[in-house]
Amino acid sequence: MIAVILNKAEYEYDVHSLVKAFFPGIEVNIYAPIPDEKTGTGARSMEKLEEFYHEAEIIVDYDFQGNKACVAIRKTGRDENEAECSFEIAYENRNEARNVLKGNIYKLLAGYTKKELPWGTLTGIRPTKFALNLLEEGKSEAEIADFMSETFYTSKEKTMLSLKVATNEKKLLDNLDFRDGYSLYVGIPFCPSTCLYCSFTSYPITRYKERLDDYLLALEKELAFTAKSCRNKKLNTIYIGGGTPTTLAPDELDRLIGFIKKTFDLSYCKEFTVEAGRPDSITREKLEVIKKHGITRISINPQTMCQETLNIIGRKHTVLQTLDAYELARDMGFTNINMDIILGLPNEDEDTVKRTLDWMEKINPDNLTVHSLALKRAARLNIFKDDYKELTFENTNTIMGMTQKCASNLNMEPYYLYRQKNMAGNFENVGYAKADKACIYNILIMEEKQTIMACGAGASTKFVVDGESYRIIAQKDIDTYIDNLDELLNKKKLKMEELKWL
Ligand code: SF4
Repeated sequence: MIAVILNKAEYEYDVHSLVKAFFPGIEVNIYAPIPDEKTGTGARSMEKLEEFYHEAEIIVDYDFQGNKACVAIRKTGRDENEAECSFEIAYENRNEARNVLKGNIYKLLAGYTKKELPWGTLTGIRPTKFALNLLEEGKSEAEIADFMSETFYTSKEKTMLSLKVATNEKKLLDNLDFRDGYSLYVGIPFCPSTCLYCSFTSYPITRYKERLDDYLLALEKELAFTAKSCRNKKLNTIYIGGGTPTTLAPDELDRLIGFIKKTFDLSYCKEFTVEAGRPDSITREKLEVIKKHGITRISINPQTMCQETLNIIGRKHTVLQTLDAYELARDMGFTNINMDIILGLPNEDEDTVKRTLDWMEKINPDNLTVHSLALKRAARLNIFKDDYKELTFENTNTIMGMTQKCASNLNMEPYYLYRQKNMAGNFENVGYAKADKACIYNILIMEEKQTIMACGAGASTKFVVDGESYRIIAQKDIDTYIDNLDELLNKKKLKMEELKWL
C-alpha cells in the first residue's frame, strides 16, 4: 500500500489518480485533514492514518506552508527521503495550482520510478479537452503542442494524437448547431450473455422475457416525457445502445424505433445509430427493420477475432458469426458500420491482436473503435478475480501503435478519444472513422458539448449548462426502474427547472 499524506485537503482526487497511474495494481490511500463525514473525495481523515500507517510500504508526504510546498517520498521505517522536491504554489488560481502540484509530483515520481506516463499528468477521462478548448480559442497547433508537453508532460505521440483528434472534432462541431440542441440515448439493458469484463447495465435477455413488454412500456413513457419536455430544443443525434439493442425481437425493435420516430421531431436529427453490438443477436429480419426506419449508422462489435479469447470472455459467439453479420449488413446496403475491438483482453498478445487487425483490414468497416480493457469493480473478472489468476493481460505501446497503423491503412482518422480508470497499460480508447463517417454523438457526449437525455434502466442523463454538467442516473435494476419511473421523471423535471434547461 502507498500512503499519500496531504497536510492541506486540496486536489485529493487528482493526486490519487496520478500516484495510482505510476503504481498500477497497488492500493493507494490518501490521508488529509478532513472530518470523517467528508471522505467522499476518495481521501481518508488523518485519524485513519494512525490505523493504517504500518501497512504502507511507501509514503508520499506533501507539506504546504505559506506559498511554498514540499513533496517527499520515503520508505516506511526509514528516516531519510528517497526523493524530494520543493516549489512555489499559489492556491488563488485553482487550475494553475492544480497543474503546478501535479507537475511537481509527476517529475518526482517519474525520477523515482524511472517511468514516464504517456499522458503525463492528464489523469482525467477527457485528455483532448485542453487541445479542443485551445483550438476554439484560436491557438495554433504548435502553441497547443508546446503547452501540453510543458504543462502536462504528455509524450510527443499522445500530444500529436490529442491534436489530431481535437482538430477533427472541431471540424465536425463547426458544421453543427449543437448549442441549441440535445441528443437522445435509449438504453436496452439486455444481452445474450454477460461478458466477463462487463460493468454496464446489462442482464441476460432470457431472464427478463416476461418483463420485456413492461420495460418497453416504461421506456416509451420516459421517451414521451422527454419529447414533451424538450419540444423547444432541437434533437441532433439519437443513439440506441445498451446492452445489446438487437436482443429485441424484430417486432419489438420496430415498435421502439417507430415510437421514437413518431414521438420526436427529427427535422434536425443528423444521425441515428443503433448499436447492434453482439453478432449473435443480429438477423436479417432485425437489420430489415433498422434499414426500413432509415437508421444511418450501426455497430457490429467483434471485440476480438480470436476464438479462444471469445470463449474465455463469455461472449458466446464465433468469429464466423461476426463475419456473417457484417457481410449481411453490407449486402443489405448499410454504408456506415462501426466495429469495436478491445485491447488487453485475457491472454492476448501482439500476435493475437495482429490477427484481429488483419481481419479489420480485410473486411474494411467505416469506423473502428479501439478500447483498452478497463477493469471495473462490478465486472465478474474483478469480483471473481481469484478464479482468473492464470490469465494474463497485456497492452503495450507497440500494440497501440499497431491499431493506429491499421486505422491509417483503412484511411481512417482518429476523431474522439477518452480514458477510463484502471485501463490496461494506462492507455486510451480511440474512435477512428473514414471521411464523413464519424459518430457525432460520441463527440457530443465525450466533450460534454450538449445535454444528453438518456432513457432506460441505468441510463445516465447529462445536462450541460454553461460548460458545467449535471447527471441523473436511472435505477439500474429493471423492476425498480419500471416500478419507480414516476419518481425518476419528477427528478428530471425538477432538475430541468432548476437549471432552466427547458
Ligand atoms: S455485450 Fe457489452 S453490455 Fe453486453 S454483456 Fe458484453 S460488455 Fe456487457
